Amino acid sequence: MESKNWIGGEWIRPNKRIAVVKNPSNLQEEVGVIHLSDESQVYQAEQSSKQAFKQWSKLTGAARSEYLYKMAASLEKYSEELATLASSEMGKPITEMKGEVTRGIHLLRYYAGEGVRADGSIIPSSDVNVLQYSQRVPLGVVGVITPWNFPVAIPIWKFAPALICGNTVIWKPAEIASLTATKMAEIFEEAGLPAGVLNLVIGKGRVIGDTLLEKIELNGLSFTGSTETGRKIAATCASRNIKYQTEMGGKNAAIILNDADLSKTIPMVISGAFRSSGQKCTATSRIIVQKDIYPSFIEQIQKAVSHIKITNALDPTAYLGPVASKSQFDIVNSYAEIARSQAEIIAECHTSITEEGYYIKPLIASGVQANHQLVQEEIFGPVAVTLQAENFEEAIDLCNQTIYGLSASLFTTDLSKAHRFLNEANAGMVRVNQETAGVEYQAPFGGMKLSSSHTREQGQAALSFYSEIKTCAIKHTF
Ligand code: NAD
Repeated sequence: MESKNWIGGEWIRPNKRIAVVKNPSNLQEEVGVIHLSDESQVYQAEQSSKQAFKQWSKLTGAARSEYLYKMAASLEKYSEELATLASSEMGKPITEMKGEVTRGIHLLRYYAGEGVRADGSIIPSSDVNVLQYSQRVPLGVVGVITPWNFPVAIPIWKFAPALICGNTVIWKPAEIASLTATKMAEIFEEAGLPAGVLNLVIGKGRVIGDTLLEKIELNGLSFTGSTETGRKIAATCASRNIKYQTEMGGKNAAIILNDADLSKTIPMVISGAFRSSGQKCTATSRIIVQKDIYPSFIEQIQKAVSHIKITNALDPTAYLGPVASKSQFDIVNSYAEIARSQAEIIAECHTSITEEGYYIKPLIASGVQANHQLVQEEIFGPVAVTLQAENFEEAIDLCNQTIYGLSASLFTTDLSKAHRFLNEANAGMVRVNQETAGVEYQAPFGGMKLSSSHTREQGQAALSFYSEIKTCAIKHTF
């Protein structure tokens, strides 16, 4: 397969630089080639999205909703093919990848429904002759910059609400998810989405991102990725008064109190920490355990981690596949080295791996201070760290001692502590007796502190980002 840009309904193959994509599960299979764009393609996308906006923004919400239903149907038709391609391109286990595609279908249907629901409101006027009301209007041309770790769901949870609100979109996916993005554009072309409503431009973050943010007329920008990139993007958008949202990194904690049922808790902690090889912004990377149960926790988690199945991402029994790329492999291994040299390893996977790929065996480190880099920095791989807490209060303090605030979990049977945790944990998505994770598509998704620019995605919250409120007043008798 070859990556292509989809601009103004045309397929354009930039002939600049080419990168070969090797399957991270075996490093041999050539999944395809990626053609990287230069800034001229961004200018083309600007023109086509501006042109398409003129018609798309004037459609009724009901008419736009029909297109989103067709996009969902088309995605459903190709779900197996798309999931297989994405697993081959970035190594997410196929069962998880299929779940992600299903989430994309649900998101499209959810926002299709909003086409006939999202409305403004009547605002009483002090003048009886005036009808005053608010209506939602689209922002205009919106840029969508996405990461590789959820190559299907994250783009859709951005452009589905953007499109239903009447915006047109320029989408720049992560380089290492470019083939998946191309396939998605093909799927949406088949769904009959009008030319220029969604424009795909494939290329390097710097080149495409800088042009998108600094050189063209952009009315909104939604970014998901690292905190470092997100903060730069936020500064540029603020200086140009572009409405923006940045969803960024995490260092999520799971707290286990003395009264938690470990036999039920440990599988959830392992899943939270290690599914997708820990490459989730909401992954559990700090495990805070109350002192009294720490010995039994270690005993049980050791057993469970040592048997985790790591294999080719296309194997339907894979619990873990490889990490996505060579650079991920090197970064995560460097943290594993730090764990081995500066901490104590309390649990480690010992299963054998039959293929040569970017596989990293999960491990859990312990015995470092709360300010250690293993506890403070986002690792984005299957390396977690434990901390011990004397009591609930100390556990909450440790949970909040981070620059991030995305997801946090508490495992307990104490209702009062559960409520206190939900109130006191500084994270955008807080969960009791469930692993750290994102939330369902109809619920607001986002973080506090350096995890986000304090907007929310998904659910109704996304509609607020992708639209502006216009207040209208008409004097009918004068
Ligand atoms: P990244 O910041 O390297 O890249 C994200 C996207 O930004 C890519 O498309 C990339 O090409 C682009 N980009 C890079 N430099 C740019 C620039 N100067 N201008 C414009 N665009 C630029 O992140 P990544 O490695 O793809 O993803 C991993 C990160 O994403 C992790 O930190 C993870 O926590 C975060 N993430 C956050 C969420 C969330 O919702 N909070 C969800 C998933 C991933």
